[in-house]
Amino acid sequence: MTEAIRSITVANELTDSHFSILQKETSRDETLQTLKRYTNKGWPTDTHKINSKVKPYWKYRNELTEACGLLWRGNRVIIPKTLQSEMLNKLHFAHLGFEKCLLRAKELLFWPELNNQLKNLIMNCQTCLTYRKNNIKEKLCPHDIPKEPWSKVGVDLFYFKGINYILIVDYYSKFIEVIELTSTISESVIKHLKCTFSRLGIPQTLVSDCGPQFISKEFRDFAQKWCFQHVTSSPRYPQSNGQAERSVQTVKNILKKSLHSKTDFRLALLEYLNTPINDKLPSPAELLFTRKLRTIFPIINQFKQSHYNPVNAKNLSMLTIGQTVKVRDEIKKMWKSGVITKYLGNRKYEIRLQTGRTIVRNRRHLIVDSPHLQPYRTTYDIDYDDFNPFQSNESGMSSDTAPNRHSPCESNNNNNNGTSDYYITRFGRTVRPPDRWRL
Ligand SMILES: [Zn+2]
Repeated sequence: MTEAIRSITVANELTDSHFSILQKETSRDETLQTLKRYTNKGWPTDTHKINSKVKPYWKYRNELTEACGLLWRGNRVIIPKTLQSEMLNKLHFAHLGFEKCLLRAKELLFWPELNNQLKNLIMNCQTCLTYRKNNIKEKLCPHDIPKEPWSKVGVDLFYFKGINYILIVDYYSKFIEVIELTSTISESVIKHLKCTFSRLGIPQTLVSDCGPQFISKEFRDFAQKWCFQHVTSSPRYPQSNGQAERSVQTVKNILKKSLHSKTDFRLALLEYLNTPINDKLPSPAELLFTRKLRTIFPIINQFKQSHYNPVNAKNLSMLTIGQTVKVRDEIKKMWKSGVITKYLGNRKYEIRLQTGRTIVRNRRHLIVDSPHLQPYRTTYDIDYDDFNPFQSNESGMSSDTAPNRHSPCESNNNNNNGTSDYYITRFGRTVRPPDRWRL
C-alpha cells in the first residue's frame, strides 16, 4: 500500500530516462537492500546488531524512506555504489568548485561518503587546478538586488577564443543568457536583446557600459520604442555594471574549463543556472522561473516557491503510512502524537491522533516522532484542513485575503468554548482560530 501510493506520487515527478538504471542498480546493491529492509521494518533496537555496511546511515535513519524502488534521504535519492563515481562526475560537470557542487548535491543525491569523495575529486581535478586563480567569489550587494525578477538586467560584450559574445544577466536571479555575436555593432546587439526580451519580457532597467553599440542613436531609439530605461555606467564608476562584469568572469571560467575538459559549454552553463546561488538562495533558474530546468541528472523536478525565504526553502522528507508523527496544535501551542494513515497527494497526509480522531494536515505541519510502525484503523471522521491560518501561506496571501479552501468533508462541530486565543490582522480585524484547529 505504502509503495503503491508513494510510487504514484514520486513517479509523477520523475522525468528522467536514467531512472530505471537507478532502480536496477539499487535492487542489486546489497547495502541498499539491507537499508531498505531496516527503513521499512524498523532498525534493530540493539545498535550492535546493525549490519556494519549500513551503519553510516544510522544517523540519518529518521529521514530515510523508500519509494519507486529507490531509497531517499528527504528529497535526495540515495545512489547505489556502482553509480556513485558517475554521479560525482556529473556533480562536477561544470567545474564550479566544492561549495557549489556540494549545494547541488544537497538537493539531489546522497550517500554517506559523498562530501569527502567530492572534495577529493575537486582537489585532484586538473581543470580546476589549472584555472584555480581565476575562481571568483560572487559577492551579493543588497542594494543591487531589485524586488522582482527580470526588472533590472545587465548587458555586456566579451571576447573569448576568437568569438564575440553578448551576455545578458538578471540582477535579481543572476540568470544568464550568453549568445555568440557575428558582429558587435548596435544593430546586431539590438537584434539579440529583442530576441531575449521577446521571450522573457522587457526589463524596466537595462544597465550597460558606454560601449559604442550602447550609446548610438539606434540604441536610444530601441530603448524608447521598447519602453525601458537604459542606464550606462559612467567612466568614473565602471563598477555600476558590476553584475554583468562578474557574470562575464563566471562565464569565461566556464568556457575555459569546458574547453580544457572537452565538455559541452552549454551543458555546463545549464548546470550553473540550476545550482543554488548559496545555502540560502536557490538556483538562478528557480528564482526566475520558479522551477528547476531539466539537466543530465536523473532527478526529481522540484517546484520551489521559496525565493529569498530560507524557511520555505527547507526540504521536508516524505512520510510513510504507519509512521508516528507530531501534529502542531495551534491553539495550545504544543505538538500532539498521531499516526500517518494515508497519503492524499500534494504533500497532504491523513493522521489518526491518539484520541482516535482523524485529521488532514500538510507536511509542513508535521514532524517525525518515531521510526517504529504502529497499527491503524481504517474508518474515521475526517477533519480536513490544508492551511494554517496563523502563518502566511505558500501563495504569499495574507490571512485577510486567503480564500477558504476547506473541503466539503470538513467537520462542522461547533464547540466554541470562548477561547481567548486570537490575533489581530494588520487591518485591525480580530481573527479567532476555527474549531478545526482544536485537536
Ligand atoms: Zn574540476
